[in-house]
Amino acid sequence: MSRPLLEVEDITAFYGASQALFGVSLVVRQGEALALMGRNGMGKTTTIACIMRMMQVRSGGVRLAGRDLLRLPSFRAARLGLGLVPEGRRCFAGLSVRENLIAAARPGPWDMAAVCDLFPRLSERAGQPAQTLSGGEQQMLTIARALMTNPRLLLLDEATEGLAPVVRQEIWAAVHRLKQSGLSILLVDKSVAELGRVADRCVILERGRDVWTGTPGDLTADLATGYLGV
Ligand code: ATP
Repeated sequence: MSRPLLEVEDITAFYGASQALFGVSLVVRQGEALALMGRNGMGKTTTIACIMRMMQVRSGGVRLAGRDLLRLPSFRAARLGLGLVPEGRRCFAGLSVRENLIAAARPGPWDMAAVCDLFPRLSERAGQPAQTLSGGEQQMLTIARALMTNPRLLLLDEATEGLAPVVRQEIWAAVHRLKQSGLSILLVDKSVAELGRVADRCVILERGRDVWTGTPGDLTADLATGYLGV
């Protein structure tokens, strides 16, 4: 079994006085795609925010390649190799596609040519302001920006949300390619079927706790109905 890359150990977190995470643990191994699943409001986005250090972790641990992320300032944590594609598309609206990509660039195999090979539409639109792109193209740009940072772990939070089916398929095809390239990925998405096709393992959250871990093959229809309502 490959080495653990990301280790989240029994984390708790609060929004003001209201507790959102009650002890979440998960591991993403090197080269693995891990699906973080659960119904709405169960704590998936909050877990990602804790990993990214965008939210305070009250107790527990987060390590990336053995380094304790919680002891580092959050800007340093991101530079250690976490590439986030957040919920909702985030790019600099007034900058061109090319400028958006260059602004994110850090040394490594993912450069302009590589992301344009993954998403050819971005090279066609390179000179256009990001705000003139379609929703799907903006999502491709957001993923490409995260890749340009050359992350060790890519975190995708609802990357296909609100997109037309044909565009979703393009995004999923790209995720499969990323996985095949050996990138480690943490995924959140509403489509259990698509997650099952790409993920090596799944972790299910319920009310701020991890309640089930297994392979997509272990996730029976009964479990999916009980935990995910599908
Ligand atoms: P979704 O699929 O709806 O995004 P999720 O599993 O990502 O759901 P979270 O967004 O992490 O869930 O929410 C976990 C809990 O924290 C929920 O009870 C939610 O109401 C609460 N919560 C989330 N964001 C805030 C906030 N900004 N302020 C207060 N409570 C919040």
